[in-house]
Amino acid sequence: MIFNSNSKILLILAHPDDEVLGAGGLLLKAKSSGAKIRIVWLGEGVSARFNPNELNTKTYNDALLIRENGARNAMKVLGVNDFSFGNLYCLRFDQTPILEITKLIEKEINNFKPDILITHNPIEVNADHIITFKAVEAATRPNFLTKKIIILGCEIPCSGRWVFEKKFEPNVYIDIKEFFDKKMLAWSQYKGEEKDFPFPRSERGLKTLARFRGMECGVEMAEAFKLWRIVL
Ligand SMILES: [Zn+2]
Repeated sequence: MIFNSNSKILLILAHPDDEVLGAGGLLLKAKSSGAKIRIVWLGEGVSARFNPNELNTKTYNDALLIRENGARNAMKVLGVNDFSFGNLYCLRFDQTPILEITKLIEKEINNFKPDILITHNPIEVNADHIITFKAVEAATRPNFLTKKIIILGCEIPCSGRWVFEKKFEPNVYIDIKEFFDKKMLAWSQYKGEEKDFPFPRSERGLKTLARFRGMECGVEMAEAFKLWRIVL
């Protein structure tokens, strides 16, 4: 089994909720094996819904608080108590030099020393997810520490499936049947993020994706990942 009580898993993701959507089942499974988990969200996940002149208004700050409270509650469900909120504006990550984002990730890696790192994949509609992936790619260029890390890309429903051309092709699957209900409970903490089916981020949508990924690997429900690098 890939997870045990010595496992240290670092998630570098763009927004609060990406962790539940892309890796909620994996996190619950890893946690049940005693793994240590840290989640770093680079951005805040609500500002894309606001015009630049609305940022720092009360409505924006209220929306921010709802998202952060949702994340804190989701962390309680997942049993994760090591996490940090970033302050990059949602869908405006490109306004920050990628070097700054890369350096922040390097610092996280040096401090936490993970043996598994989970991030986004670049086959995405969401520009923040792509920038996060590129910054992780730069921050994990091989050195004495990073070459030991298993690096995985997760799948975010919606933005990950709405691309016109290529589709995400996973090669690592986690059987999450045992953890699916709890994943949904964690997801339900993010108030206002769910829409009605066939929107992919609906309960039925997430179940459909889990079953689809399950069929690909011969289990009832799965989360899918892409292995970016492992050095054996
Ligand atoms: Zn996201």
